[in-house]
Amino acid sequence: MTLTIPEEVKTLSSKFEASGHELYLVGGAVRDYAMGKPIYDWDFTTDASPEKILAILGEDAFYDNNFGTVGFPYKEGERPFEVTTFRTETTYSDARHPDEIKWGNTLEEDLKRRDFTINAMALKISNLNFKILNKEDIGIIDPYDGKKDIDKKLIRAVGDPIERFSEDALRMMRAVRIASELGFTIDEQTFNAIKMHAGSIHKIAHERVRDELLKILGSKYPYEGVLLLHGSGLMDEILPELSKTFGVEQKSPGRHHIYDVGTHSLMSLKNCPSGDAIVRFATLIHDIGKPQTYKVQDAIITFYNHEVLGARIAKNIAARLRFSKRDSDKLWKLVRWHQFTVDEHQTDKAIRRFITKVTPEYVEDMLALRTGDRLGGGAAETSWRLEEFKKRLIEVQKQPFTVRDLKINGSDVMKELGIKPSPKVGEILNKLFEDVVEKRVDNEKEALLEKLRQITES
Ligand code: ATP
Ligand code: MG
Repeated sequence: MTLTIPEEVKTLSSKFEASGHELYLVGGAVRDYAMGKPIYDWDFTTDASPEKILAILGEDAFYDNNFGTVGFPYKEGERPFEVTTFRTETTYSDARHPDEIKWGNTLEEDLKRRDFTINAMALKISNLNFKILNKEDIGIIDPYDGKKDIDKKLIRAVGDPIERFSEDALRMMRAVRIASELGFTIDEQTFNAIKMHAGSIHKIAHERVRDELLKILGSKYPYEGVLLLHGSGLMDEILPELSKTFGVEQKSPGRHHIYDVGTHSLMSLKNCPSGDAIVRFATLIHDIGKPQTYKVQDAIITFYNHEVLGARIAKNIAARLRFSKRDSDKLWKLVRWHQFTVDEHQTDKAIRRFITKVTPEYVEDMLALRTGDRLGGGAAETSWRLEEFKKRLIEVQKQPFTVRDLKINGSDVMKELGIKPSPKVGEILNKLFEDVVEKRVDNEKEALLEKLRQITES
């Protein structure tokens, strides 16, 4: 593994050296480098004060927040370099914000305030090591044995985990998120400390919890991540509705279910073929309405209308976690309609109604949820009925869904008939739309104009 240092980094480093200051690469960049991955985020730390950094970097540099971070444009379209003065953190009285940001005097102090050992490594950037490009030759400054933890695939807190999580509760979500992104496990002591402190996650703004949760769901190992949320007790705090599905039995004679609702939910997520965080989330919570709709009738377990209640719960979760309107709509609609039938005797009209309810752009996502649901319940990935249904979905979508999908619009109608804007224009378009849906005319401009002449002549 060789480290390719961009010219811009060399220039940056020369500027700091020339003014007698130190410059280190830190954080995710060093972690990625030590893991043999390319570096995307160039974050640096230095002994120079923020004012000094600005003076060294010149007029292109900008202060981007009050944490003493100076941004410096690197390349068109790339994230700017970020240079931060050594920091040391004092006390946190609210498990959220340090009471004050204090500049540190040494690199050691700066690394000590970082969250996990694999994030607390630094690499000295100096003109000397530009030529030595072998990983073994470049001294990574690693006071907490982050490299060893990388080899062991372990997330371990720097110092006393109990103390570190009581300083900043968001670190618990970060531990799970980084583990899911890297496919790592969480060190036992660190994990026990999360169990102890899970309740304090409520001190963190919902938006920040949401960001970490969506990163977990969108990561390479979402299933393992959600298992960690469950096992650590964080799920009880941030998604109590999902915690309640564990242990809810759904086995009935002659029925296909092999798992309780919670386990089935996890297995569905594991098998969901979509990479989209919201689709994965919908797959995870699709049966979230089951605990409250559970009934036993003649030895058969039923969950009537669980999808209706589930959609309501999904909406509540989305509101609580401050999802965007778009993400919220997508989430609850996928939950609401997940019980769709693939019966081959449905009319085209019924299938079109289904597509309209789900929203045409989420149809693919709805199918991904169904695949996860099937595989997560021990069924085969697909069935001939599902395959036929997919073909019909494509077929019926060749027809327009609203007047707006017609290949002619109001001005075409007015031009063709030489009339001014009036409700009549809309009536004619509606009539043409009906004709297209009923297959009396193709949705083609020429054919529609021809039909238009016929309608008005008669
Ligand atoms: P990525 O950017 O790939 O998500 P990262 O490790 O760079 O991962 P950032 O959120 O960019 O994560 O943070 C940069 C560095 O700042 C981290 O590597 C870590 O050293 C430190 N850090 C970030 N958040 C915290 C925190 N809450 N407590 C302590 N240190 C933190
Ligand atoms: Mg980063």
